[in-house]
Parts: sequence; structure tokens; C-alpha cells
Amino acid sequence: PVCIVWFRQDLRVIDNPALLAAVEHGTVVPVYIFDTELDEADQPGGASNWWLHHSLVSLNKRLNGHLQCFTGEPKKILSELVEKFSARAVFWNRCYEPAVIDRDKEIKQTLRERDCLVSSFNGSLLWEPMSIRKQDGGVYRVFTPYYRKGCLQASAPRYPSSAPERITYADVANEGHSIDDAGLLPEINWDSEFSKHWTPGEEGAADKLSDFIKHAAKGYEDQRNIPSVRGTSRLSPHLHFGEISPNQVWYALLNAFDDQGSSDLDCFLSELGWREFSYYLLFHFPTITDKNFNSQFDKFKWLNQDEKYTAWTKGRTGIPIVDAGMRELWQTGYMHNRVRMIVGSFLVKNLLIDWRKGERWFWDCLVDADRASNSASWQWVAGSGADAAPYFRIFNPVLQGEKFDKQGSYVKKYCPELANMPDKYLHKPWDAPKDVLQKAGVELGSTYPKPIADLKQSRQRALDAYADTKED
Ligand code: FAD
Repeated sequence: PVCIVWFRQDLRVIDNPALLAAVEHGTVVPVYIFDTELDEADQPGGASNWWLHHSLVSLNKRLNGHLQCFTGEPKKILSELVEKFSARAVFWNRCYEPAVIDRDKEIKQTLRERDCLVSSFNGSLLWEPMSIRKQDGGVYRVFTPYYRKGCLQASAPRYPSSAPERITYADVANEGHSIDDAGLLPEINWDSEFSKHWTPGEEGAADKLSDFIKHAAKGYEDQRNIPSVRGTSRLSPHLHFGEISPNQVWYALLNAFDDQGSSDLDCFLSELGWREFSYYLLFHFPTITDKNFNSQFDKFKWLNQDEKYTAWTKGRTGIPIVDAGMRELWQTGYMHNRVRMIVGSFLVKNLLIDWRKGERWFWDCLVDADRASNSASWQWVAGSGADAAPYFRIFNPVLQGEKFDKQGSYVKKYCPELANMPDKYLHKPWDAPKDVLQKAGVELGSTYPKPIADLKQSRQRALDAYADTKED
């Protein structure tokens, strides 16, 4: 019997439960659908589209050119394909965005009414959100008990499977359009640097994993906070698009460490746990994508500072570590986690700009843009989220820079106009005496911006704004 495998955020062949089940069931038609029915907020941003294009090209190669691409409404397209191919089954791996869950339920029902076997699988998470509950049946809101008690004690993650030994493709006419026809690549050439940093697809993901295991897994706990070194795995876009499963990553890391009690190992696995927690929150509290998790923040008086927001997006705030981060994002589609927290805190607290504006910018620019992790992390930074950083803990970007970019290599890489600044003033050029600036070839307001916020005053303003939300 013919079985359609609907690929979504699982663009891989190894450890793909839906594909494996389809191969066991019969002959396979692999399908990808560009969903035009999704809300605008859920449509992938520019950087994600760049990734998706290349990832689909890579998947199509892995499937010997059999991937069939369509654009439109998935329910309509799948119903038509079931008829055309006389398919008896449709399989896919589950997604957890609220709108997608509703849509998938509807599709399941429609296809089943046509006597089609429909099955969905867990291909993206170590522990699915519906399976983790507190002892009293409630939902966790705090990471550590969720992860340590809820997940780790519940069950070990499923062991990953290999690629199917052989995929037999159904002998059907090609109904789809080409990947190029989806028009995912940008018209203006802002992506020129991306391919230097990334190789979308299953092979690229496997390479990133083995590089990480070879060079950075040991030492992760210390090195993960230093943006100038390759101290983290850079697997996030590969995980987002499902080019590698978290199960593959989990077990590869367990195998790489002789000492299973290693704090580097524990720290890395718990970061995968944060990814799980984000999906858990999204599933149980679907409005986290655009509503404050903590409703006290609904009273927050955000400022509309369009010019300052633009300066932030362009990496021209005059605060070196913030600018370096925003430029890294623009150039590479990625930003180091420590710096994401710094630029986020600066936007939300020093500029008092609504976290949702930051979330949208990241959504468009990140190659790992992910509805669950992006929303949960922005709310964490803003203080409005579940288990968030307390609002009053406001990052000082100068101290953060001095601590995590001591030699300034990160700032100098992305803000080359500051390359000759002495270490002492690199993270606060506005404090440098005139002759030091002159010697370094820096003219504030000309070669490099003057700071758009006074860090001390804006910190106090943020605390006052927060205090106002408590008054009633
Ligand atoms: P590693 O340190 O190697 O971690 C391994 C994996 O664990 C990552 O690939 C990722 O899947 C997961 N992970 C690590 N940290 C987190 C975290 N805090 N929350 C959730 N998962 C985590 N991550 C995204 O994948 N997509 C996003 O859209 C996203 N937006 C963010 C926005 C803000 C404001 C902040 C502060 C963080 C955001 N993160 C997001 C989380 C984190 O910054 C990235 O996952 C991480 O930097 C990816 O780099 P890496 O793969 O080298 O991470």
C-alpha cells in the first residue's frame, strides 16, 4: 500500500519515526507542504526561509529526488494526494505550535473519514508535553522540578533508530513543484555570509555534533558563556528543523563521556532540557507567544522608541557588546546565548521597549527562530515568563562585556571600528579620555555611535516602571 510521509520539522532520514513506520507499511511518497494558511506570526522569517530552502534541497538528495513539494492548504493538498496516489496511509511527526495542533487534528479527522490510516509520532522531543505532569496532576511552571523530577525520573528518552535500510518509493507521477519555485531565498543579497557558517541538512547537523563532541563538549560548562570561542554546539537550527533529533544528540553525548556524572555533560543535557521546557510551556500555555505569562506585566508601560529600536536592530546603540551581538545576528543568522540575554535585557529594560518587538526581530533574523524557544526566552529575559529571571536583575552590559569578553575579541570582530580601543575602555568608550579615543581612531557620534541610553538612569527608570505595575 502507498503511504504518504508528510515532512514538517523533521527534515531527516535517520531516527525519523514517521518515515520508519511508512517504510514498514508499504511504498512511500515523501511530501513537503509550504503552508499558506498559517497566521502571519507563524510564517517563517527571512533567515528561516533561507535555511528551509537549503534543508529541503539536502533532504531531497537523501530521498533520491523523490520529495514532492506543494504550496497551499495542507488539508486540501493531502486529501487530493490521497485520492491521486490511492494512498492508504498518511504519517507524520508531531508539532506543538497551538495553531498547528488544531490544524493537524482536523486533517486527521478528514483523512480518516476517507478510510485512510493516519498516524502521528514523536520525532522532535525527548519528553512530549502531554506526558509530563506533577504528582498532583498539575502542570510544572518551574524548570528544575520539571526537568529533574518530571522528565528525568519519568523515563529515559527513546533510543534513536537508524535510517531505514531501504526506502521503496511509490511509483507515482510527480505532482509537486520545485523547491526553487517556493521562492524562499531572499531577493536582496543579505545572506551572503550565511553559507560560510552553516550547512543546512542532515549531514551538516551530524558534522556540527561531531565537531562539538571532539572540541567543546568537555569544558562546556565554563566555555558556553564566552561568545568569542566555539564553546557551544551550534545545533539549534538543525534541531529546530529536525535535521537531527534531540535523542541522537542526547545519546551521542552520553556515549562521549566516560564519566556520566560529569558536570559538563549534565549542563549540556539540561540545555536540551530547556528546549523541552519551552515546548512544554508552549503546549500548556499556548498564549506565551504573544501574551505575558505573568499578567502583572500587562500593566507595564512600554515606550515606543522607534529610532532607538531601529538603532538596536542595526547594532548602532553605542553599547559595544550589544552592537556586536546585533551585528553577529545580522551577519550570521545566529547570536551567542549570553549575548542574546544581554541585548534582550538592554531592549526591554534600558530602552523599555516591549519584548514582543524583540521577539519579532529575532524571529525574522535567526536561523534557529523557534516559536517555543524564542517566546519562552524573550519572556524569561523580560521577567514576564515562567521561571523567569527576576525583573530587578538588570544586566549591566558593560560588566557583562568585561566579564565574558575580557579580551574584547568578540566586540572587535563585529565592531571593527573599535579594534584599537584599549581593553580598559573597549566596553565603555564614552568613558575614555579624548586622547585615548583619538589614538584609537574613534570619534563618538561619527565613527562609532554615542550610547543611546544612560545605563544608570535607564536602569532606575526600569525599576520605577516595574514598581508601577505592582501598584493598584
Ligand atoms: P548549546 O549551548 O550547544 O545548547 C544545545 C541545545 O540546547 C541548543 O541547540 C538548543 O536547542 C538548546 N538550548 C540551549 N539553550 C537553550 C535555551 N535557553 N532555551 C531553549 N533551548 C536551549 N533558541 C532557539 O533554538 N531558538 C530561538 O528562537 C531562540 N531564541 C532565543 C531568544 C532569546 C532572547 C534568548 C535569550 C535565547 C534564545 N534561544 C533560542 C536559546 C539559546 O540562545 C539558543 O538555543 C542557543 O544559543 C543555541 O546555540 P547552541 O546550539 O550552540 O546551544
